[in-house]
Amino acid sequence: KMARKILMDNLLIILIIIAVFIGVGMGMGLRNVWTYEDYKEIFYLEFPGRLLLNMLKMLILPLVISSLVTGMASIGTQATGKLGAAAVTYYMTTTLFAVIIGIVLVLTIHPGSSGDREKLRREGSSTNAKPLDSLLDLVSQCFPENLVSACFERRVTDIEIVQSDPRINETDGTNYTVDLEKYGLKSDSGTNVLGIVVFSIALGIVINHLGEEGLPLKRFFSSLNSATMILINVVIWYTPFGIMFLIAGKFVATDDIGQVLSDLGKYMGTVLGGLVIHGFIVLPLMYFIATRKNPAAFAANMAKALFTAWGTASSSATLPLTMDCLVKKNKVNVNVVRFVAPVGATINMDGTALYEAVACIFIAQINGMDLSVADVIIVSLTATAAAIGAAGVPQAGLVTLVIVLTAVGLPTEDVTFILSIDWFLDRFRTTINVWGDSVGAGILNHYFRNVFKEEDEDETNDSNFQ
Ligand code: ASP
Repeated sequence: KMARKILMDNLLIILIIIAVFIGVGMGMGLRNVWTYEDYKEIFYLEFPGRLLLNMLKMLILPLVISSLVTGMASIGTQATGKLGAAAVTYYMTTTLFAVIIGIVLVLTIHPGSSGDREKLRREGSSTNAKPLDSLLDLVSQCFPENLVSACFERRVTDIEIVQSDPRINETDGTNYTVDLEKYGLKSDSGTNVLGIVVFSIALGIVINHLGEEGLPLKRFFSSLNSATMILINVVIWYTPFGIMFLIAGKFVATDDIGQVLSDLGKYMGTVLGGLVIHGFIVLPLMYFIATRKNPAAFAANMAKALFTAWGTASSSATLPLTMDCLVKKNKVNVNVVRFVAPVGATINMDGTALYEAVACIFIAQINGMDLSVADVIIVSLTATAAAIGAAGVPQAGLVTLVIVLTAVGLPTEDVTFILSIDWFLDRFRTTINVWGDSVGAGILNHYFRNVFKEEDEDETNDSNFQ
């Protein structure tokens, strides 16, 4: 039985990896024989993938609420406070590290020159976002006025980017302005996860305090958690099939890849180089220094989640797999995971922060604008805030980039310069986002190993994950 379980578990990883490769191959093959007229045709190809995203997103709400409430109700206020403080410290430090790596690289490589401006120019416009408004928006998201509407409404002030489709321009020469939403690119996950996270944490803490009287609620959420995990275990098997079509669709839909590479190759290289340094050096080193354990083994155990992150470009959609890998394979304490993973997926985005810093400075370089030291500091701070504010959905980072651009006075419609390649970079930064959350869970688990040990003895919650 044991052997079969191991096989089943690895089978899924193998299937996901194969799916990623088939997806890329299928997309690259199809793009040679298929010139689509309307983006809608791509939608048909992506359809099985969209079903996957829907199913995963559907499970996020019950998963986040039940995990956080159960976790908080089990670990007690004192431990919660300490764990929370440690988690936020970890998130902030790693995000800042990521931003600094990005800034150093983009300033030394200097991927953008002002000569590129006309070459990259595209029709487009976008609404302006005031940094202060965005910040207040972020805070007010933490305290939604209505819990039910928080489940399907995210923002107070919406930032929308409007872009014209270069393909449509090519085919009939007219300038359409196309709403990104049509491409499934809305920043919105449709859910104010941050608000739900804050409420669930508070509710869990209170339930813990209630003691005897809180038990029915605790049991309710813990049972909801078990039920959700079972649903997730079913949906997980659909993952390979879904991501195969998502990836294929994206590869078919890209503009001329050679052209993009020659225009934006250096920029892409800078972002990818930064992500590699952060993901392969900084995070593993932190993990090793903190735990004295092998980061490669830890990463291998996260493979399912990391490949799914690449395939879906959504850290929220990947959350079920992240939690699964952390608990089952890396043996991270279930209560640590219940707290750290949902919060991390919502606010901790190292890859996004790095990307936003690089993208902003790249756009400054194209505009021939010299950034002062103060500007660079503003970029790093707003990039961090913009990454916290970005939802864990595809290309949310591109939307919050508008905040960073506004902060240093760059034209916001210049996001269209990097739009054509964003879907591709998105996959890599999402992978690093999920990897950063995972390493955080591993490190915190190590520091709190004694705190949670006794509590586990009277908890049988682990069974939820089996
Ligand atoms: N897609 C990323 C994520 O889900 C966010 C981003 O666009 O940077 O983590």
